Amino acid sequence: MSAKVIDCVAIANQIKEELQKDIENVKEQGAAVGIATVLVGNDFGARMYRGQVERFCGEMGVEYINANPPEDAHENDVVQIVKDLNNDKKVSGILPLRPFPEHISDYAIINSIDVNKDIDCFHPYNMGKLTLGEVTFAPATPSACIEIMDREKINFEGAEIVVVGHSNIVGKPISILCLNRNATISTTHIFTSMAGNLEKHTRGADILIVAAGKASLITADHIKEGAFVIDVGINRVKMLDESGNPILNEKGKPKTKTVGDIDFESVSQKAAKVTPVPGGVGAITNMMLMKNAIKAARIQSGLV
Ligand code: NAP
Repeated sequence: MSAKVIDCVAIANQIKEELQKDIENVKEQGAAVGIATVLVGNDFGARMYRGQVERFCGEMGVEYINANPPEDAHENDVVQIVKDLNNDKKVSGILPLRPFPEHISDYAIINSIDVNKDIDCFHPYNMGKLTLGEVTFAPATPSACIEIMDREKINFEGAEIVVVGHSNIVGKPISILCLNRNATISTTHIFTSMAGNLEKHTRGADILIVAAGKASLITADHIKEGAFVIDVGINRVKMLDESGNPILNEKGKPKTKTVGDIDFESVSQKAAKVTPVPGGVGAITNMMLMKNAIKAARIQSGLV
Protein backbone atom coordinates (compact mmCIF):
# COMPACT_ATOMS: atom_id res chain seq x y z
CA MET A 1 0.00 0.00 0.00
CA SER A 2 1.14 3.52 -0.61
CA ALA A 3 -0.54 6.00 1.71
CA LYS A 4 -2.47 9.07 0.66
CA VAL A 5 -0.36 11.98 1.89
CA ILE A 6 -2.73 14.60 3.31
CA ASP A 7 -2.09 17.99 1.73
CA CYS A 8 -2.15 20.01 4.95
CA VAL A 9 -0.88 23.16 3.23
CA ALA A 10 -3.89 23.10 0.88
CA ILE A 11 -6.22 22.61 3.87
CA ALA A 12 -4.51 25.51 5.69
CA ASN A 13 -4.90 27.75 2.65
CA GLN A 14 -8.58 26.90 2.37
CA ILE A 15 -9.13 27.66 6.07
CA LYS A 16 -7.18 30.89 5.63
CA GLU A 17 -9.60 32.03 2.91
CA GLU A 18 -12.58 31.14 5.12
CA LEU A 19 -11.08 32.99 8.09
CA GLN A 20 -10.24 36.04 6.00
CA LYS A 21 -13.97 36.51 5.35
CA ASP A 22 -14.69 35.96 9.02
CA ILE A 23 -12.15 38.63 10.02
CA GLU A 24 -13.82 41.17 7.70
CA ASN A 25 -17.20 40.24 9.12
CA VAL A 26 -16.04 40.67 12.73
CA LYS A 27 -14.35 43.97 11.95
CA GLU A 28 -17.52 45.28 10.28
CA GLN A 29 -19.34 44.54 13.51
CA GLY A 30 -16.85 46.71 15.40
CA ALA A 31 -14.75 43.98 17.05
CA ALA A 32 -10.95 44.00 16.98
CA VAL A 33 -9.00 40.85 16.14
CA GLY A 34 -5.42 40.93 17.39
CA ILE A 35 -2.83 38.49 18.73
CA ALA A 36 -0.11 39.26 21.26
CA THR A 37 2.71 36.80 21.89
CA VAL A 38 4.61 36.83 25.18
CA LEU A 39 8.16 35.55 24.78
CA VAL A 40 10.55 36.00 27.70
CA GLY A 41 14.16 36.02 26.50
CA ASN A 42 15.44 34.43 23.33
CA ASP A 43 14.58 30.72 23.13
CA PHE A 44 15.24 29.61 19.54
CA GLY A 45 12.09 27.50 19.02
CA ALA A 46 9.88 30.15 20.64
CA ARG A 47 11.42 32.85 18.42
CA MET A 48 10.73 30.75 15.32
CA TYR A 49 7.09 30.32 16.33
CA ARG A 50 6.80 34.03 17.19
CA GLY A 51 7.99 34.90 13.70
CA GLN A 52 5.34 32.64 12.17
CA VAL A 53 2.59 34.29 14.23
CA GLU A 54 3.76 37.76 13.21
CA ARG A 55 3.85 36.67 9.55
CA PHE A 56 0.37 35.19 9.35
CA CYS A 57 -1.13 38.08 11.33
CA GLY A 58 0.45 40.46 8.80
CA GLU A 59 -0.80 38.40 5.84
CA MET A 60 -4.33 38.35 7.23
CA GLY A 61 -4.48 42.01 8.22
CA VAL A 62 -4.66 41.31 11.94
CA GLU A 63 -3.03 43.42 14.68
CA TYR A 64 0.08 41.76 16.14
CA ILE A 65 1.92 42.72 19.33
CA ASN A 66 5.32 41.32 20.26
CA ALA A 67 5.77 41.41 24.04
CA ASN A 68 9.37 40.31 24.53
CA PRO A 69 10.79 41.12 27.97
CA PRO A 70 14.45 40.18 28.52
CA GLU A 71 15.63 36.80 29.85
CA ASP A 72 16.22 38.26 33.34
CA ALA A 73 12.81 39.98 33.59
CA HIS A 74 11.15 39.58 37.00
CA GLU A 75 8.13 37.26 37.11
CA ASN A 76 5.93 40.08 38.46
CA ASP A 77 6.89 42.27 35.50
CA VAL A 78 5.89 39.54 33.03
CA VAL A 79 2.58 39.07 34.87
CA GLN A 80 2.03 42.83 34.60
CA ILE A 81 2.69 42.68 30.83
CA VAL A 82 -0.01 39.99 30.54
CA LYS A 83 -2.43 42.07 32.63
CA ASP A 84 -1.81 45.08 30.39
CA LEU A 85 -2.55 42.90 27.35
CA ASN A 86 -5.73 41.68 29.07
CA ASN A 87 -6.85 45.33 29.10
CA ASP A 88 -5.67 46.16 25.58
CA LYS A 89 -8.74 46.44 23.31
CA LYS A 90 -6.62 45.79 20.18
CA VAL A 91 -5.65 42.34 21.50
CA SER A 92 -8.27 39.59 21.32
CA GLY A 93 -5.86 36.74 22.04
CA ILE A 94 -2.73 36.23 24.13
CA LEU A 95 -0.25 33.46 23.35
CA PRO A 96 2.50 32.72 25.89
CA LEU A 97 5.51 31.27 24.08
CA ARG A 98 7.30 28.74 26.21
CA PRO A 99 9.74 27.70 27.52
CA PHE A 100 10.06 30.57 29.97
CA PRO A 101 13.34 31.07 31.85
CA GLU A 102 13.61 28.85 34.94
CA HIS A 103 12.89 31.63 37.44
CA ILE A 104 9.48 32.25 35.84
CA SER A 105 6.64 29.90 36.71
CA ASP A 106 4.50 28.83 33.75
CA TYR A 107 1.48 28.89 36.03
CA ALA A 108 2.06 32.44 37.25
CA ILE A 109 1.92 33.64 33.64
CA ILE A 110 -0.80 31.31 32.39
CA ASN A 111 -3.11 31.97 35.34
CA SER A 112 -2.89 35.71 34.75
CA ILE A 113 -4.26 35.47 31.18
CA ASP A 114 -7.89 36.65 30.81
CA VAL A 115 -9.78 33.39 30.16
CA ASN A 116 -11.54 35.08 27.21
CA LYS A 117 -8.16 35.85 25.60
CA ASP A 118 -6.64 32.40 26.24
CA ILE A 119 -6.54 31.38 22.58
CA ASP A 120 -4.29 28.32 23.01
CA CYS A 121 -6.25 26.97 26.00
CA PHE A 122 -3.44 27.16 28.54
CA HIS A 123 -5.58 28.40 31.45
CA PRO A 124 -6.91 25.72 33.85
CA TYR A 125 -10.43 27.21 33.45
CA ASN A 126 -10.43 26.57 29.70
CA MET A 127 -8.74 23.16 30.11
CA GLY A 128 -11.48 22.30 32.62
CA LYS A 129 -14.19 23.33 30.17
CA LEU A 130 -12.50 21.29 27.44
CA THR A 131 -12.50 18.25 29.71
CA LEU A 132 -16.21 18.73 30.43
CA GLY A 133 -16.94 18.93 26.70
CA GLU A 134 -17.92 22.62 26.91
CA VAL A 135 -15.10 23.90 24.77
CA THR A 136 -14.52 27.64 24.36
CA PHE A 137 -10.96 27.50 23.00
CA ALA A 138 -9.46 24.14 22.09
CA PRO A 139 -5.66 24.33 21.84
CA ALA A 140 -4.48 25.00 18.30
CA THR A 141 -2.46 21.85 17.57
CA PRO A 142 -5.09 19.36 18.80
CA SER A 143 -7.71 21.38 16.89
CA ALA A 144 -5.58 21.03 13.76
CA CYS A 145 -5.60 17.24 14.20
CA ILE A 146 -9.40 17.25 14.60
CA GLU A 147 -9.75 19.50 11.53
CA ILE A 148 -7.70 17.03 9.46
CA MET A 149 -9.81 14.10 10.65
CA ASP A 150 -13.05 16.01 10.01
CA ARG A 151 -11.98 16.85 6.47
CA GLU A 152 -11.16 13.15 5.95
CA LYS A 153 -14.70 12.39 7.21
CA ILE A 154 -13.60 10.23 10.14
CA ASN A 155 -16.43 8.78 12.17
CA PHE A 156 -15.15 9.20 15.73
CA GLU A 157 -17.79 7.09 17.41
CA GLY A 158 -16.09 3.90 18.52
CA ALA A 159 -12.97 4.58 16.46
CA GLU A 160 -9.80 3.12 18.00
CA ILE A 161 -7.54 6.14 18.39
CA VAL A 162 -4.10 5.96 19.98
CA VAL A 163 -2.19 9.08 20.98
CA VAL A 164 1.56 8.99 21.61
CA GLY A 165 2.52 11.75 24.07
CA HIS A 166 0.57 13.19 26.97
CA SER A 167 1.72 16.79 27.21
CA ASN A 168 -0.76 19.35 28.50
CA ILE A 169 -0.73 21.22 25.22
CA VAL A 170 -0.89 18.38 22.64
CA GLY A 171 -1.28 14.76 23.77
CA LYS A 172 -3.69 15.24 26.66
CA PRO A 173 -6.12 17.69 24.98
CA ILE A 174 -6.22 15.75 21.69
CA SER A 175 -7.09 12.64 23.70
CA ILE A 176 -9.89 14.54 25.47
CA LEU A 177 -11.22 16.06 22.23
CA CYS A 178 -11.44 12.59 20.66
CA LEU A 179 -13.02 11.17 23.82
CA ASN A 180 -15.61 13.99 23.73
CA ARG A 181 -16.59 12.64 20.32
CA ASN A 182 -16.97 9.11 21.70
CA ALA A 183 -13.83 7.57 20.24
CA THR A 184 -12.07 4.83 22.18
CA ILE A 185 -8.82 6.44 23.28
CA SER A 186 -5.50 5.08 24.47
CA THR A 187 -3.00 7.70 25.54
CA THR A 188 0.57 6.43 25.59
CA HIS A 189 3.74 8.15 26.83
CA ILE A 190 7.31 7.58 27.87
CA PHE A 191 6.33 5.09 30.58
CA THR A 192 4.38 3.05 28.01
CA SER A 193 7.59 2.85 25.98
CA MET A 194 9.73 2.09 29.03
CA ALA A 195 7.38 -0.77 29.93
CA GLY A 196 7.88 -2.13 26.38
CA ASN A 197 4.19 -1.67 25.56
CA LEU A 198 4.17 1.12 22.96
CA GLU A 199 3.88 -1.15 19.92
CA LYS A 200 1.13 -3.23 21.55
CA HIS A 201 -1.03 -0.10 21.70
CA THR A 202 -0.06 1.61 18.45
CA ARG A 203 -0.66 -1.55 16.40
CA GLY A 204 -4.29 -1.51 17.50
CA ALA A 205 -4.91 2.02 16.25
CA ASP A 206 -7.23 2.85 13.37
CA ILE A 207 -5.98 6.38 13.86
CA LEU A 208 -2.56 7.01 15.36
CA ILE A 209 -1.66 10.53 16.50
CA VAL A 210 2.02 10.92 17.34
CA ALA A 211 3.27 13.87 19.40
CA ALA A 212 6.40 12.76 21.24
CA GLY A 213 9.16 14.89 19.73
CA LYS A 214 11.29 11.82 18.86
CA ALA A 215 12.38 11.35 15.26
CA SER A 216 11.66 7.88 13.82
CA LEU A 217 9.88 6.74 17.00
CA ILE A 218 7.11 5.13 14.91
CA THR A 219 8.03 2.71 12.13
CA ALA A 220 5.91 0.39 9.96
CA ASP A 221 6.19 -2.26 12.70
CA HIS A 222 4.26 0.02 15.07
CA ILE A 223 1.18 0.44 12.91
CA LYS A 224 -1.80 -1.51 11.68
CA GLU A 225 -2.14 -2.05 7.90
CA GLY A 226 -4.38 0.74 6.58
CA ALA A 227 -4.06 3.02 9.62
CA PHE A 228 -4.46 6.80 9.45
CA VAL A 229 -1.29 8.33 10.93
CA ILE A 230 -1.13 11.96 12.02
CA ASP A 231 2.42 13.08 12.74
CA VAL A 232 2.54 16.11 15.03
CA GLY A 233 6.25 15.89 15.89
CA ILE A 234 8.81 18.43 14.71
CA ASN A 235 12.47 17.44 15.00
CA ARG A 236 15.71 18.72 13.46
CA VAL A 237 17.98 15.81 12.45
CA LYS A 238 21.30 15.51 10.63
CA MET A 239 21.10 14.63 6.94
CA LEU A 240 22.96 11.36 6.20
CA ASP A 241 24.42 9.96 2.98
CA GLU A 242 23.82 6.38 1.77
CA SER A 243 26.55 5.06 4.08
CA GLY A 244 25.00 6.77 7.09
CA ASN A 245 27.60 9.53 7.34
CA PRO A 246 26.55 13.16 7.95
CA ILE A 247 26.31 15.33 4.83
CA LEU A 248 28.33 18.49 5.43
CA ASN A 249 27.61 22.03 4.28
CA GLU A 250 30.15 24.41 2.74
CA LYS A 251 31.34 25.34 6.25
CA GLY A 252 31.99 21.67 7.09
CA LYS A 253 29.05 21.50 9.50
CA PRO A 254 26.39 18.72 9.27
CA LYS A 255 23.36 19.69 7.19
CA THR A 256 20.05 19.28 9.01
CA LYS A 257 16.44 18.80 7.99
CA THR A 258 13.02 18.88 9.69
CA VAL A 259 11.26 15.56 10.23
CA GLY A 260 8.33 14.33 12.30
CA ASP A 261 8.11 11.46 14.77
CA ILE A 262 7.37 8.76 12.20
CA ASP A 263 9.69 6.98 9.82
CA PHE A 264 7.82 8.39 6.83
CA GLU A 265 9.31 5.97 4.26
CA SER A 266 8.21 2.77 5.98
CA VAL A 267 5.00 4.06 7.56
CA SER A 268 3.66 5.41 4.27
CA GLN A 269 4.05 1.93 2.71
CA LYS A 270 1.67 0.43 5.26
CA ALA A 271 -0.68 3.26 6.31
CA ALA A 272 -3.76 4.31 4.31
CA LYS A 273 -3.32 8.01 5.11
CA VAL A 274 -0.46 9.99 6.57
CA THR A 275 0.39 13.63 7.28
CA PRO A 276 3.83 14.86 6.19
CA VAL A 277 6.45 16.90 8.08
CA PRO A 278 7.22 19.63 7.14
CA GLY A 279 4.03 20.95 5.54
CA GLY A 280 1.80 19.02 7.91
CA VAL A 281 -0.15 19.68 11.10
CA GLY A 282 1.85 22.86 11.82
CA ALA A 283 0.40 24.77 8.86
CA ILE A 284 -3.13 24.12 10.08
CA THR A 285 -2.20 24.84 13.71
CA ASN A 286 -1.50 28.47 12.78
CA MET A 287 -4.97 28.83 11.27
CA MET A 288 -6.60 27.24 14.33
CA LEU A 289 -4.93 29.87 16.48
CA MET A 290 -6.34 32.60 14.24
CA LYS A 291 -9.77 30.96 14.39
CA ASN A 292 -9.61 31.16 18.20
CA ALA A 293 -8.48 34.81 18.07
CA ILE A 294 -11.55 35.63 15.94
CA LYS A 295 -13.83 33.75 18.33
CA ALA A 296 -12.21 35.61 21.25
CA ALA A 297 -12.90 38.95 19.51
CA ARG A 298 -16.56 37.98 19.15
CA ILE A 299 -16.81 36.93 22.80
CA GLN A 300 -15.17 40.13 24.03
CA SER A 301 -17.49 42.27 21.91
CA GLY A 302 -20.61 40.43 23.03
CA LEU A 303 -21.24 39.10 19.52
CA VAL A 304 -21.74 35.53 20.78
P1 NAP B 1 6.50 17.48 25.09
O1 NAP B 1 5.88 18.40 26.09
O2 NAP B 1 7.98 17.22 25.12
O3 NAP B 1 5.75 16.09 25.24
C1 NAP B 1 6.20 14.93 24.57
C2 NAP B 1 5.37 13.76 25.03
O4 NAP B 1 5.85 12.59 24.40
C3 NAP B 1 5.45 13.51 26.53
O5 NAP B 1 4.19 13.13 26.98
C4 NAP B 1 6.45 12.37 26.64
O6 NAP B 1 6.22 11.56 27.76
C5 NAP B 1 6.15 11.59 25.38
N1 NAP B 1 7.29 10.81 24.92
C6 NAP B 1 8.58 11.21 24.78
N2 NAP B 1 9.33 10.19 24.34
C7 NAP B 1 8.50 9.14 24.19
C8 NAP B 1 8.69 7.81 23.77
N3 NAP B 1 9.90 7.32 23.44
N4 NAP B 1 7.62 6.99 23.75
C9 NAP B 1 6.38 7.44 24.10
N5 NAP B 1 6.15 8.70 24.51
C10 NAP B 1 7.20 9.54 24.55
O7 NAP B 1 6.17 17.94 23.63
P2 NAP B 1 4.84 18.61 22.99
O8 NAP B 1 4.82 20.04 23.26
O9 NAP B 1 3.66 17.76 23.34
O10 NAP B 1 5.17 18.40 21.45
C11 NAP B 1 5.35 17.10 20.90
C12 NAP B 1 5.97 17.23 19.52
O11 NAP B 1 5.06 17.95 18.70
C13 NAP B 1 7.28 18.02 19.48
O12 NAP B 1 8.09 17.49 18.46
C14 NAP B 1 6.84 19.42 19.10
O13 NAP B 1 7.86 20.14 18.43
C15 NAP B 1 5.71 19.11 18.17
N6 NAP B 1 4.69 20.15 18.08
C16 NAP B 1 4.20 20.39 16.86
C17 NAP B 1 3.20 21.33 16.69
C18 NAP B 1 2.61 21.54 15.35
O14 NAP B 1 1.81 22.45 15.18
N7 NAP B 1 2.94 20.72 14.37
C19 NAP B 1 2.73 22.06 17.79
C20 NAP B 1 3.22 21.76 19.06
C21 NAP B 1 4.21 20.78 19.18
P3 NAP B 1 6.74 12.05 29.24
O15 NAP B 1 6.13 13.41 29.49
O16 NAP B 1 6.19 11.04 30.17
O17 NAP B 1 8.21 12.13 29.15
